[in-house]
Amino acid sequence: MNKPADVVRRPSVCPHDCPSVCALEVEVIDGARIGRIRGAAEQSYTSGVVCAKVARYAERIHHQDRLTQPLRRIGPKGSGQFAPIAWDDALDLVAEKFLDAERRFGAESVWPYFYAGTMGLVMRDGIERLTHVKRYSRFFGSICVGIAWPGFLAGTGRIAGVDPREMAKSDCIVIWGTNAVVTQVNVMTHATRARKERGAKIVAIDIYETETMRQADMALRLRPGTDGALACAVMHILFRDGLADRAYLARYADAPEALEAHLKSRDPHWASAITGLSVDAIEAFAALVGRTKRSFFRLGYGFSRQRNGAANLHAASCVPVVTGAWAHEGGGAFHSNSGIFQLDKTLIEGLDARDESVRRLDQSRVGAVLTGEAEALKGGGPVKAMLIQNTNPLAVAPNQEKVRKGFGRDDLFVCVHEQFLTDTARYADVVLPATMFLEHDDLYTGGGHQHLQFGPKTIEPPAGSRSNHEVVAALAERLGARHPGFAMTPREIIDWTLRASGRGTLAELEDRKWLDCQPSFEDSHYLNGFAYPDGKFRLRADWASTPFSGDGLKGPWREMPSLPDHWPVNEAADAAHPFKLATSPARNFLNSSFTETPTSRAREERPTVLMNPDDAAALGLSEGEIVRLSNARGEIRVHVRLFPGVSRGLIVSEGVWPPSAFLDGRGVNTLTGDDSVAPFGGAAFHDARVWARRG
Ligand code: SF4
Repeated sequence: MNKPADVVRRPSVCPHDCPSVCALEVEVIDGARIGRIRGAAEQSYTSGVVCAKVARYAERIHHQDRLTQPLRRIGPKGSGQFAPIAWDDALDLVAEKFLDAERRFGAESVWPYFYAGTMGLVMRDGIERLTHVKRYSRFFGSICVGIAWPGFLAGTGRIAGVDPREMAKSDCIVIWGTNAVVTQVNVMTHATRARKERGAKIVAIDIYETETMRQADMALRLRPGTDGALACAVMHILFRDGLADRAYLARYADAPEALEAHLKSRDPHWASAITGLSVDAIEAFAALVGRTKRSFFRLGYGFSRQRNGAANLHAASCVPVVTGAWAHEGGGAFHSNSGIFQLDKTLIEGLDARDESVRRLDQSRVGAVLTGEAEALKGGGPVKAMLIQNTNPLAVAPNQEKVRKGFGRDDLFVCVHEQFLTDTARYADVVLPATMFLEHDDLYTGGGHQHLQFGPKTIEPPAGSRSNHEVVAALAERLGARHPGFAMTPREIIDWTLRASGRGTLAELEDRKWLDCQPSFEDSHYLNGFAYPDGKFRLRADWASTPFSGDGLKGPWREMPSLPDHWPVNEAADAAHPFKLATSPARNFLNSSFTETPTSRAREERPTVLMNPDDAAALGLSEGEIVRLSNARGEIRVHVRLFPGVSRGLIVSEGVWPPSAFLDGRGVNTLTGDDSVAPFGGAAFHDARVWARRG
């Protein structure tokens, strides 16, 4: 008779690029495999709930296609033809190529490239230590928060807001530009609690009928990139109807009179023509938030992924200032809490070795960098060698054909350290197998909440895979890079970081599992003043001095509106390109992660675009047929799904399917632009114009 399995529950933290950063309880079977994953019930934000794709993580971590053997390319780039190579030989080869590039072209010809495939600070950011010590080209991570954060900072001065658990104490929760049911399920946990216990109203604002909209009490479906117009009209009504909190504005805002005068012409009829919303819908929304002091504005990333995204996010953040909601429990705004943790990352990132004079290359412009555009290279020489961890640029970066051309260069050496043979790994010269989060120790901050959490190593990795930290340290040794961090274990680095940051010790954190870092009620609500020297919220944005630590001002930032407005800078549909395309998240994927797990893949079925049935009929397209989408950047072919919840003129592609899953091997980011978005860069993923034809 078989011995019954020994199942224990171990604490962990979800490492994926999601604001919820859930506290987990992981079933560990016989010390070697994992079973079901649940949300930790006692962690007050996770509150026992995780998304389905992580609940079934056993599919991913024990996937038969995981890489377990270093590989060396033996065929053309992108062909996927590799031969096994021993770990030491692979690391020696990478080091030899990096040293050769450095000797012949200078240290800046090497560009370590990474992102948020894991949000663990040691495994995600340790690569920066190698970059700084070696004076390799620095990495400007612009692809996610680069547009949104300046928009929020322009008003508040800090990336922090009301305790997101206060949603449960709100009377109105405005979920603006994020499909929370799909992308951050915990928002719904707290919002629906408020509805159940207090009769709170949930408002969803988005560009197509999402699952979140279907669960909302009020749904506002507007045209992409028109959120600024909606915010202006709402504030116009608030001033017009005596719903503006003038006492609050006088104390906490910089320019209320100028705003009121400016908004005189931004009435609901003006906004209706821009947004496509009815005047009645705009009036009803304004009346709701104007008469509900406990209105909580949960401002998402989705609506920032436009060329006017930063201006729109700033405009939306002004609404709770005009109503004075910030002063009330359950009221105010939240975008991210990333500014509250204030960790000393000297050891993790090697900040003591950072040289500000070394050029910084833009993640979103990877195609332009690799194809040698002078402006993207900052006037310097070409990139000749790369180490890539935690990201799949051939799927997720904009202007995909340019990216592919760059990675196809014969004179570029690329090492990809990955869990699966992704589209990017297929273009690598050397592929190294990487661990997953339950196979190494790491430290996590909660962007969408306030907990600092430790995720311990829980099971052994598959033989043949190594952690990011191990690879970075092994390369550092071969490259002659010296820094204390390379010789320390992840636990030692985490312990040092916590102590240096005044957050206790690792032993204490491990004992408690998480640390609640939420600032006081007064600070979270900015009752002691906003984070500008005069303590006032900036209704009049000063984009050039917005405190965003990016890579300088980019794009047409001089043309940005200062007071909230509709800024018509987006790619406009025209006769040649009558559709706008948005690349929204899929429920079962997270960016390009989970596209490899069987259940996620089966549920999403295949790369598909959503199109209004009338638009489809005009093109002679029926459900499930193939549509060609194209613009100046390239062309893709994809199946179509008819969906009346998408307005005419809009096409929505859900999920970052791997390009190799598309009919012609070209993914949706073939169509998105890599021009720098104002004011500090980033990619406008939901702002592309296309033409569409049957076939
Ligand atoms: S992906 Fe997001 S919602 Fe799902 S478990 Fe991870 S943090 Fe939680």
